[in-house]
Amino acid sequence: MSKRVNQQPLVYFDNGATTQKPQSVIDAQSDFYCSSNANVHRATHQLASVATTKFEQARVQVQKFINATQTKEIIWTKGCTEGINLVAQSWGKSHLNPKDVIVLSYAEHHANIVPWQIIAEQTGAEIKVLPLSSQGIISKEVLTHIISERTKIVCVNHVSNVIGKVNPIESVITRAKEVGAKTLIDGAQAIANIIVDVQALDCDFYVFSAHKMYGPTGIGVLYGKEEILNAMPPYQSGGEMINKVSFSGTSFQSLPYKFEAGTPNIAGVIAFAKAIEFISQYQLNDRHEYKQELLEYAFKRLQTIPSIEFIVEGKPDIPLFSFTLKYHYQDVASYLDLSGVAARVGGHCAMPLFEYIGIKGCIRLSLAPYNTYDEIDFVVDKLTALVSKTDEIIQRNNVNENDN
Ligand code: PMP
Repeated sequence: MSKRVNQQPLVYFDNGATTQKPQSVIDAQSDFYCSSNANVHRATHQLASVATTKFEQARVQVQKFINATQTKEIIWTKGCTEGINLVAQSWGKSHLNPKDVIVLSYAEHHANIVPWQIIAEQTGAEIKVLPLSSQGIISKEVLTHIISERTKIVCVNHVSNVIGKVNPIESVITRAKEVGAKTLIDGAQAIANIIVDVQALDCDFYVFSAHKMYGPTGIGVLYGKEEILNAMPPYQSGGEMINKVSFSGTSFQSLPYKFEAGTPNIAGVIAFAKAIEFISQYQLNDRHEYKQELLEYAFKRLQTIPSIEFIVEGKPDIPLFSFTLKYHYQDVASYLDLSGVAARVGGHCAMPLFEYIGIKGCIRLSLAPYNTYDEIDFVVDKLTALVSKTDEIIQRNNVNENDN
């Protein structure tokens, strides 16, 4: 990357927060505004027809990308957060009753906690939380105990944004089915890193955001099984989502439009299609292997930093590393920033996880296929120098104090 930050070449290790965008995505977004900007679905003029075709083609691409059975199961949202809110408010409000149970895990992002807390408050449902193993993934042993006949929905991440490991969601889904509960999988961190097949998983809902998979911000997907989406009331209402409006009564569009009120993020959807092309290419070729090699290399090199402590045992499944050093993570972040390194530190929108682990926060480095071995070496050397130099200064001060 040619960009410089603090007079240093940028090392972008914050891909878990959002990825950088390939030129094809940037071009698709600006081309749309330059040459085919029009609203979708409404008008019969040529420009609107082109925009609508591209917009709906993108839906087909997403459908194929996650192997959904039909395009009507692909609902455009603003992102993961909106997808979860949609399910919580629409499915939750119409299905949850007092004493029903919503099951989450301790490793959820706030986006997969707070919407459930709000709907639990509104309906009288209760929230139960799945504990984690020392490896930081959902413990399979407790599934039968926590997911019980009272459970109505289980909402867990495929890969946590702090732990970076694939959860045993197949076992979670199997157990949920045994008790007739629905499942929602938060795929925010998984979607750019592992192949997702919603039919094979047989989950009821799967949510993700385009911006974490090389696409634009402000656009994402809620996948839902057709019969479940059909039985859900609209989430938001207005134009686009209606069939007929009159003061004697209004009827709604069929799927997926029933859940897409108002003018959508058309440019975002069209550019997202380019991100899917980009990601589909590298998931099937040697770029994917390269990413795995980067993961192995980074894990090995990071372990050489004095005082490093990974927040859970074992190697992550995606190139995302969370650890502490003996300095406050905020100080480490400022030091890295001065060296041109973009890292994320703090509670990572997962406060309950940090409470569960018993620490306040951590440093997270998350990599993508455009990162390099040299960048890993650079960051490891910087962190090693930080720890070693500070140790040296402390030792020198101790000697001076003793001399006095
Ligand atoms: N879940 C997880 C695991 C995430 O990492 C994130 C984003 N950090 C979200 C949900 C929310 O995604 P968005 O902000 O794109 O809606």
